[in-house]
Amino acid sequence: MKKTYEILKDLPEIKKAAQILKQDEEHTFEQLKELVLIPAFSRHEEVRAKRYREMMEAEGFEVTEDEVHNVYTVIKGSGGGPVLYVTGHLDTVFPLDTPLEVVEKEPGKFYCPGIGDDTSALAQNLALMRAFRDSGIKLKGDLIIGGNVGEEGLGDLYGVRNFFGKEENLKLVDGFISVDGQGPSVTYGGTGSYRYKVSFSNQGGHSNGDFGMPNPIHAMGRAIAKIADVKTPNPPWTTFAVGVVDGGTSVNSIAHDCEFLLDIRSNGKAELDAANEEIMKCITDAVAEENARWKRDEEYYAHDSGNKKNPVPRADRVVELKIEKMGDRPVGNQSLDDPIVKAALTLYEVCGEKAVTNANGSTDANIPISLGIPGLAVGRSGKGAGSHSRAEWFSPEGMAEGEAELFLMICGLLGVDGVTEPLLPVREK
Ligand SMILES: [Zn+2]
Repeated sequence: MKKTYEILKDLPEIKKAAQILKQDEEHTFEQLKELVLIPAFSRHEEVRAKRYREMMEAEGFEVTEDEVHNVYTVIKGSGGGPVLYVTGHLDTVFPLDTPLEVVEKEPGKFYCPGIGDDTSALAQNLALMRAFRDSGIKLKGDLIIGGNVGEEGLGDLYGVRNFFGKEENLKLVDGFISVDGQGPSVTYGGTGSYRYKVSFSNQGGHSNGDFGMPNPIHAMGRAIAKIADVKTPNPPWTTFAVGVVDGGTSVNSIAHDCEFLLDIRSNGKAELDAANEEIMKCITDAVAEENARWKRDEEYYAHDSGNKKNPVPRADRVVELKIEKMGDRPVGNQSLDDPIVKAALTLYEVCGEKAVTNANGSTDANIPISLGIPGLAVGRSGKGAGSHSRAEWFSPEGMAEGEAELFLMICGLLGVDGVTEPLLPVREK
């Protein structure tokens, strides 16, 4: 693999691509600054996808846009090689009403929510398309390249899930790269997760007058206390958190409803499912206990100021539980010896970069990896920090050089006609 990249590094077409990317840097950054001003909260990426598509078409690329607004073009190789899908995510974590303005607060540091994660990857993928078109390089395998929807939080990877949910794509693709994360980095495994909204409700009542009625907030408290005591294994790293609690109306009410958001993660499939099962039991036990605590009519009516004239029917007193699954990201594991992982790390080594490696992450690559398709998330180039915060910034310093490395990585994986064989194997399908 090292040899492949050393040969390719000196290839005139690859050097030309690096030049093109450098000359193109300002244009690429202008496109980034335009795209980042289009709000693209997860599951609301349509407008940004449309503009991204227009940008691709303006450069002469034929674009496919699927029903969820993934957009991509196909750069055909000479044939007989693998098919690689390279994509950046169109969505951001910022709700549609988030103020968006690119401000150069310090020289070279441009602040705007979403500017790095992952809008810079969209612009960089456009730059790569132009470099593949204009450098004269002849790939052996086919490159699918573009932007996808639904990577962040509540997007739950639905863009890439939709892409691989199609039989023809599942059969077609041999490898996947999500351009995401900052700087030279390789994430090669997928942490699995389940996310839930858990709601507790009954008809509610007066804290005093209806005392003796099961209390949804008390049921929720019991559940959280039980969850807090769950023991999870390590390895594989397995975690849980109640991230948000909400509910209640006033200090002197039995709330009619309340809810919490729950996140459970693991790097192991069996462990994820075991933690999930135990935590679900915590919740159902908690509700049963709260209902059992107040089930006796004697106790309900015994209270001096109990609402004896107008008792709440038992059916309306019982705390009802509703568990909605909001996220399901599959676990996927690959080893450092898998060709796609090794090829990416070798590329960085040949380029003299110290790449950060993550055995597990929660990225678009979770989906292909879990389906047996080699996949990675590799970092965007340029500098930046503060992703998922309003203090997010990006600097185009080193952007073109990073793009050139990614260009080289793709050439290695897909092979260059008459020069090197693809490092990415064609899958048996
Ligand atoms: Zn991202």
